[in-house]
Amino acid sequence: MLTLQEVARKQREPAPGAAPASPETDTNGVIEAWLRDLAAVQQSPQSRWGYKRAAAAIHDLEAPIESFVEADGTLRKIPHIGPASTRVILEVLRTGRSEIVEQAIQDSGRAADVEKRRGLRQRFLTRTQVRAALDNSGLRGPAIKSYRGDLQMHSTWSDGGQSLEDIIRGGVERGYQYCAVTDHSYGLPIAHGVSMEALAEQHAEIDRLNETYRGSFRLLKGIEANIRVDGTVDMEPHELRRLEVVVAAPHSALRTDADQTARLLGAVSTPGVNILGHPRGRMYGSRPGVSADWPAVFAAAARANVAIEIDGDPARQDIDYLLAREAVKSGCLFALDSDAHDTPELAYAETAIAHARLAGVPSSRVVNCWPLDRLLAWAKAAWRR
Ligand SMILES: [Zn+2]
Repeated sequence: MLTLQEVARKQREPAPGAAPASPETDTNGVIEAWLRDLAAVQQSPQSRWGYKRAAAAIHDLEAPIESFVEADGTLRKIPHIGPASTRVILEVLRTGRSEIVEQAIQDSGRAADVEKRRGLRQRFLTRTQVRAALDNSGLRGPAIKSYRGDLQMHSTWSDGGQSLEDIIRGGVERGYQYCAVTDHSYGLPIAHGVSMEALAEQHAEIDRLNETYRGSFRLLKGIEANIRVDGTVDMEPHELRRLEVVVAAPHSALRTDADQTARLLGAVSTPGVNILGHPRGRMYGSRPGVSADWPAVFAAAARANVAIEIDGDPARQDIDYLLAREAVKSGCLFALDSDAHDTPELAYAETAIAHARLAGVPSSRVVNCWPLDRLLAWAKAAWRR
């Protein structure tokens, strides 16, 4: 067991030549998980909200929590971290676990539920881990500076909070050359999927905006189509043909452990589909997503030239770096996307890039690193399948 003074000292004097922290030894992630457990067993919505906010603040830290411990063993002020969360944080730093949280779980009578959530947090990176993977020059894989554009995001036309022009401005600010707006298809009314009439209006607006930004940025006409349980995609071929980028993704039957290989094979063999979006449909601490024979899915995707997505939404991180290594072996292309629903979330692409680096994805196989004309030619070729 360490004293907090020792924790603070260790942080300030890293061993010379120490390897960057691996995702397996991520104190921020460990503490985030304890705070999420504590949130889950609160009676009052207000304290649940408070601990969730504290957990999110730890998730978003740009540096390891150890670097916030002062020489006297106190914790430097972190926004949204109150005294109760601070006690848990210091306890975990000192002992590696939290008796306070364990006791709260026992008292709540919800130990089984908490145990289930704990099993659904594997290989999610915190912001500090994302930073470490981006900065680690020993990793091969796409660098931020070679990333030219983001291929999954949502606007006010479906369930997003950003206008088309917000997306363009956000993309330009991040140094991108293009982005695809991929609102939900009409088959997903729960996410305000766009009708074909609305899509035609959206395309007219995209044409207008592309005229304005000609030479500096291109917004691509995309869609996130829904993969039904039977493996078909919820749009007709003549409808898909109106689009420049088609992401197909599962949004239902994500809590069953029944094998869904056939469902995903159906999607990747559908003419016009370019990207298999968040292939598992997993959610941090909440659902496992699709079970499938992944090598078979990746082999089919590689044959069909469908890119496997790494979705950078922090709660998704789908697929993760371990599964992505399998897809690398199968020869797959990759799409590294933010799945942003608002402009600040365009930064989620960095989480996807971090997983790709940890997986050793060659940047030549990342479609987001391709020049626009190559990207569009690839997307079009999906009709020759
Ligand atoms: Zn989706």
